[in-house]
Formats: sequence, C-alpha cells, structure tokens
Amino acid sequence: TPGALLGPAQIRDLAGRLGVRPTKTLGQNFVHDAGTVRKIVRSAGLTPGQRVVEVGPGLGSLTLGLLEADVSVVAVEIDPVLAAQLPLTVRETAPDRADRLDVVLQDALTVTELPGPPPTALVANLPYNVAVPVLLTFLERFDSLERVLVMVQAEVADRLAAPPGSRTYGIPSVKAAWYATARRTATIGRSVFWPVPNVDSALVLLERRPAPVTLASRQRVFAVVDAAFAQRRKTLRGALAQIAGSPAAAQAALEAAGVDPGARGERLTVEEFARIAEALDAAGP
Ligand code: SAM
Repeated sequence: TPGALLGPAQIRDLAGRLGVRPTKTLGQNFVHDAGTVRKIVRSAGLTPGQRVVEVGPGLGSLTLGLLEADVSVVAVEIDPVLAAQLPLTVRETAPDRADRLDVVLQDALTVTELPGPPPTALVANLPYNVAVPVLLTFLERFDSLERVLVMVQAEVADRLAAPPGSRTYGIPSVKAAWYATARRTATIGRSVFWPVPNVDSALVLLERRPAPVTLASRQRVFAVVDAAFAQRRKTLRGALAQIAGSPAAAQAALEAAGVDPGARGERLTVEEFARIAEALDAAGP
C-alpha cells in the first residue's frame, strides 16, 4: 500500500516511545523522507521475490520501502532496542509483509552467515563510521550478492566510484573494483535525516564483476594496495620496497608486472596491482 512509509511525525513518535537518543558512534541518522526511500529502492533495481540484506535498518524507514517492493529482507542491526522494535513496526505498518522480514541482532562486521536464502542484493543506508569495511566485508563473505546500492557520505561515494588517476582514487576505489564496478547515481541532501548530519550523502550502485585473474591471493593483492597508498607520495619502487624485501626486489617485481617502477599507486588499476602481487609471489620470500 502506498504511503506505508515513515515520515517525520512517525520517526519522532517512534524515537520518543522507545527513548532512542541517536548516537554518532553508531552513525544513527534516520531517513524521514518517503521520496528518498523510494529513490533508493528504485535505484537498486530489485525484482519481486528477491532476497535483500539490509545493514542498519534503524527505525525501519528503508526496510518498509524494500518490503513495499515485494522483496524479502534480512536486516542486520547492532542496536538491541532498534532490532527488537523493527518487527513490531513492520507488523503495524505493513502487516501483510511482516513474514518477509528476518532481523539479526549483530555487528554487521562479524556476520558470517544469514538466515534464509542467500541474498542477491545489499541495500542499505550505511552507518558512516564503518561504511567501507561493511561494504567490502559483505562483498567478500557473500558471493551471492550481485548488486549493491548503498547510501554513504558523498565523499565516500566519490572514492568508491573514482577511476585510476583521479583525485579521489585510493584504497577504497581499488578494493571495491576487485569485486565490482561502482557508479555514483545520486546526491541526497542532509535534510532528509533526523538528526541532520554535517555532510551530504550519495547513492552508489555496485555491480559484481569477476575478480581479476591472478595467481596471487586477494589478501596479498590488498596488502600491496595498502602498501602503495600508505606512502602516497613515494614512487611504487619506494612504497613497495618493504613488502618486496628491498628497493631492487620491488623494482624487479614491478618490471616483471609491466608497471613503471617510477609511477605512483594512484594511477594503477586493480588488475595492475594483482599483477604486481603475483610477481612478488613468484620472486619468493
Ligand atoms: N536504515 C535506517 C534509515 O535509513 O533510516 C538507519 C540508517 S543509520 C545511517 C545506520 C544504522 O546502522 C543505525 O540503525 C545503527 O544503529 C546501525 N549500525 C551502526 N553500526 C552497525 C554495525 N556495525 N552493524 C549493524 N548495524 C549498525
């Protein structure tokens, strides 16, 4: 039924009844605008019947929007008061859809399995402090995830979607590219939240793609990425000296990978990082 979403009055009322005092540490900013919720759901491109995982359902704004799209939802919430209330809110607001919701009370970063069928999409208004780790953890742990639509800080959205060589390209860009292609699809002003955060947000759509073909493990590639960006202003030869054992070993691995040792990490694609990791492994410890 259209209109069964939470507006400012419902958010205020629910928070008041529960005694919820939103905390910054948990990134608790709740959406009170039905238009924004529908935009998120629309951007996710869901199909009815699909299994969707939501991280941080909060007071249920987005959860209700997802259920409205006829998907089934597993929601992972760290706050016990919010997790306990969510099924009640859904039963009150959308009684015919209440059986399509599972709630897991847990820190999303520690979740290794989920009840019900494997989710094929992650749709979430992510808690800001842990947005990138949650995103990468879920793409790593749940192979079944084909699409991800998340709302994050605008600046984080830019990083996730940045191409090599651009100003905002960095560790999150490369690691996200290991799993998916990322695209920023919309900007969302801060006024749709209660409480109002200090920054605007944006939607990012990630579509799973095959990981780069390499003999190196994902962990090894990510370690090379971390090393390359830890010393942003150094050339790759310098930045990778420690992980390679010596500047000469770094130079040799970079040449074997077909990457200019005098270049900087901010110009490399994830495939190039994967080739460097493979060359380092081939050279041995
Ligand atoms: N989805 C709701 C909305 O759009 O109104 C709330 C979004 S709010 C930005 C983030 C939510 O994530 C909060 O409900 C917070 O309690 C929850 N949260 C914070 N850290 C978490 C974690 N590590 N694991 C699971 N949930 C978390």
